[in-house]
Amino acid sequence: MIEHGSGVVAVRADNPSALTLTGTQTYVIGDEAIVVLDPGPLDAAHLDRVEEVIAGRPVSAVCLTHSHRDHTAGAQEAADRWGPLRASEETLDRVGVDGVPLADEDVIELGAAFSFRAISTPGHSGDHLCYLIDSTRDLFTGDLVLGEGSSIIVHPDGSVRAYLSSLRRLAALQPARLLPGHGRVVTAAGKRLEACRVHRIERTKHVLRAVKGGASTIEAIRETVYWELPASHHAAAELSIQAYLAYLHEEGHEVPTGLE
Ligand SMILES: [Zn+2]
Repeated sequence: MIEHGSGVVAVRADNPSALTLTGTQTYVIGDEAIVVLDPGPLDAAHLDRVEEVIAGRPVSAVCLTHSHRDHTAGAQEAADRWGPLRASEETLDRVGVDGVPLADEDVIELGAAFSFRAISTPGHSGDHLCYLIDSTRDLFTGDLVLGEGSSIIVHPDGSVRAYLSSLRRLAALQPARLLPGHGRVVTAAGKRLEACRVHRIERTKHVLRAVKGGASTIEAIRETVYWELPASHHAAAELSIQAYLAYLHEEGHEVPTGLE
């Protein structure tokens, strides 16, 4: 359990991997009334630790950023324990759970000090929401922006164009801190969002250069662009490459799409 101050506590699930970094973070947010964000994997010991942090306070909602299993496999058990699920309609559908859909800009009021605002942020996946606390400018970024490294763009559900536009939207909110689903809390929020934007644009250029240089399979592009990545990350990189190719195609470049 990590106390982040301003009514935010993170509980990290024990599911470390190439994609989840040190594990999925479940956040307990609020003071008198509570929101639980991303219950994480189906792991009773993890949910017990979250319950200790809740400490009997009323839970207004169990919110989800997006449908990926490392964030939601425990969703039904969390709802059974604490209260209604809130997420985008698409996320509720994909997870296959009942809940109250959240639209872009919908707010959950958590007493006088906290408004918890849903921000529609597709890019990593199509169904993704970030959440902003209006008073403290704490921004919960799910898998859109991680604490370190860059997140996968899950083609074709995710999209580079949507990703870039979500980053612009988040920057305009002028967050003070980024609290990601994986990795550490980022205090230089504006800088981090800009670094993510620059990184995506650089990667797009690298993929274009690889194609122009003769790389004609996803694997060949990966070996050129992501030559430094360990094998554990290859599948994720290949999905992202398909997303970059689709984006380059949308931008009018002559690149192959639908490569395997
Ligand atoms: Zn994800």
